[in-house]
Amino acid sequence: MPNYKLGLDFALEQDQKDVLSTYRNQFHIPKHSDGSDCIYMTGNSLGLQPKQTKAYVNQELEDWANLGVEGHFKAKNPWLYYHEPLGKDMAKVVGAQPSEVVVMNTLTANLHFMMVSFYKPSKKRYKILIEADAFPSDKYAVESQLRHHGFDDKEGLILWKARKGEELAHYDDLEAILETQGNDIALVLIGAVNYYTGQYFDLKYITQLGHKHGCMVGFDCAHATGNVALNLHDSGADFAAWCTYKYLNSGPGSIAGCFVHERHANNKNLNRFTGWWSHNKETRFKMRDDFDQLPGAEGWQLSNPPILAMAAIKASLAIFNEVGFEKLTDKSKKLTGYFEFLLKQLENDSIRIITPNNPNERGCQLSIAVKNANKSLHNKLTEAGIISDWREPNVIRCAPVPLYNSFQDIYYLVERLKTILNE
Ligand SMILES: *Cc1c(COP(=O)(O)O)cnc(C)c1O
Repeated sequence: MPNYKLGLDFALEQDQKDVLSTYRNQFHIPKHSDGSDCIYMTGNSLGLQPKQTKAYVNQELEDWANLGVEGHFKAKNPWLYYHEPLGKDMAKVVGAQPSEVVVMNTLTANLHFMMVSFYKPSKKRYKILIEADAFPSDKYAVESQLRHHGFDDKEGLILWKARKGEELAHYDDLEAILETQGNDIALVLIGAVNYYTGQYFDLKYITQLGHKHGCMVGFDCAHATGNVALNLHDSGADFAAWCTYKYLNSGPGSIAGCFVHERHANNKNLNRFTGWWSHNKETRFKMRDDFDQLPGAEGWQLSNPPILAMAAIKASLAIFNEVGFEKLTDKSKKLTGYFEFLLKQLENDSIRIITPNNPNERGCQLSIAVKNANKSLHNKLTEAGIISDWREPNVIRCAPVPLYNSFQDIYYLVERLKTILNE
């Protein structure tokens, strides 16, 4: 880590030394009303648009215009096979084997489809364990799965809570829950990086713990993919799902990713919902055959996928592939470390960083609790051209994204925060 220093000069110097600095120019940065670039801190919510995305999407629009249905075979990137290289590139981003990853549906839909296969409750073992501050959609999804199987959604849901007065979850408490209630738990589903606190969990450890107690283990990687160097295969998790519009910069509501560990790849006995896209590719278009399960993660697809959304994903993954995770996490740790350093130097009692201070237990996001603050703080930042995210009751979340945020961004953000807090 660099020896962080106060003052704009240090930020300028770091930006000069930054080996990824040219990538900022490959993104559209939203403009403030005065015409300057916004300080965009919400790549954890909606990642910015790569400039090359338009060309990728246009290619498919043109092929559609010129070829119609023939585009399935004759497009520059034939639509029939479009998701295959995409799955391979996506597998690199999440540290998985190509056969373990598929791009399909949307995140919450994928969680449900995964639970069809991996939440297999019995009368004795039917509970689901999630983290207490899980993203609402995940909580709603597992509650509805409990109800769907005829269980009470309160009684069947076990929460891994932070201790009183704290925000971060302790592994000791997870162990204790599994020691005492492990035999009742069918599924452990955890957000790999918690959306609220920014805490990055040890996926391998949680998986081993869950498996030791006979539970299936899945992860929601919405805040982890493209942010931290995941190693899903090695974690041993049964399944994972993530969206592509946050750190993966693939556009609002774009389709999602899904991981199924290879040990389940050929298990045709797993219950699942299927469609023609889960059927053997060789005979899919004969349309007369009985169902023949496609192996691997692809075998969980139902429908032919949206090419226009996948074009945006393809454009974005090309950047991730080019940069590689080593450089990305290296800059990410420096940038977020600098942010943390400047916040601490404010020596302002009213702010407290709730994200872990160990760089290996977080991604780029810092969540800052501000005493007695309300949303006007967030609004003042917005007026100053700083796009951050406000979570009730008093937390601002800022995610400096190494592909397009700069050290100057951080410098000006903290300067403005200082001014607002002193008002
Ligand atoms: C962003 C996010 C979602 C959103 O779900 P969609 O199905 O994409 O609308 C769900 N869960 C987590 C943990 C998220 O971070």
